[in-house]
Amino acid sequence: VPRAERSPLNGPGVTRDGARVRLLANVAGAHDAQEASRWGAEGVGLFRTELSFLDRGIEPSVEEQAETYLAVLRAFPGQRVVIRTLDAGSDKPVPYLTLPGEPNPALGVRGFRTARRDPDVLARQLEAISHAAMRAGEAPWVMAPMIATRDEAASFASMARGAGIETVGVMIETPAAALLADAIAAEVDFLSIGTNDLAQYVMAADRQATELADLGDPWQPAVLAMIAAVGRAGLARGIPVGVCGEAASTPDLAPVLVGAGATSLSMAPRALAPVAAALADVTLAECRAAADAATSADSSDDARRSAAAALRVRV
Ligand code: PEP
Ligand code: MG
Repeated sequence: VPRAERSPLNGPGVTRDGARVRLLANVAGAHDAQEASRWGAEGVGLFRTELSFLDRGIEPSVEEQAETYLAVLRAFPGQRVVIRTLDAGSDKPVPYLTLPGEPNPALGVRGFRTARRDPDVLARQLEAISHAAMRAGEAPWVMAPMIATRDEAASFASMARGAGIETVGVMIETPAAALLADAIAAEVDFLSIGTNDLAQYVMAADRQATELADLGDPWQPAVLAMIAAVGRAGLARGIPVGVCGEAASTPDLAPVLVGAGATSLSMAPRALAPVAAALADVTLAECRAAADAATSADSSDDARRSAAAALRVRV
């Protein structure tokens, strides 16, 4: 284990020439959030709320949910905490929300789509988040997973704002959302790219099929091109673009994501220091050159090699 993987982050994420890249943690609940704080995370970039309720047969009350969210907010006072509404379904079935027996659960009623059938569950979650925010005196960012259309983004934004949430975003993890990122960006305050699902759907390769891992690789030029399109949309609209999939925790890939327009990276806490070290080594211009080289590569291996060459690092 390299030394950086055992040490906490010390100081904010920044490139060699001073471009700020917020380094955040992915958490599943309060215990993770406290640990992430010890690892020096600058906040939470992805709170996967469904993971707190995977074993629940019935929906937790608004007050019980609020307690769960409050505990995470309290781990990062005054810092950014991005709460994702329930991403129930597919690889994360939540008993009280997920339809059993879907033939293609990854393409089924998951994430924000569950609100078609049951909008009240989402409404109560937003209410619980709002309660927790008030009690903590914090203003969490709130985002929805599995958005595929501008209408879905608009409808989520209106529900969340109606519940008193000030900063509302959506995850970009379907090819449709990436292609229409500019239109979607007009509806929300921030975007967050979920590279795990984005790679799965761009490459049509099940994220759980280890046999297809080479296709689901975030270094695939098609995946990187999608990420870069989202980065351009965020820049054009002047809103932040985070990356919260596993790709963000890869030190070699982090500069490419930043060059493609990511303004924050969210990851497992132990990856924070290695990613910070990788960014501290490179300038923003080098990141952009690496992103250009990688997105125009012919293969994932070629993307790795050309990004490394652009960053003048030996592979
Ligand atoms: C993703 O899809 O990249 C993501 C961050 O969400 P999850 O892994 O929870 O689906
Ligand atoms: Mg996802």
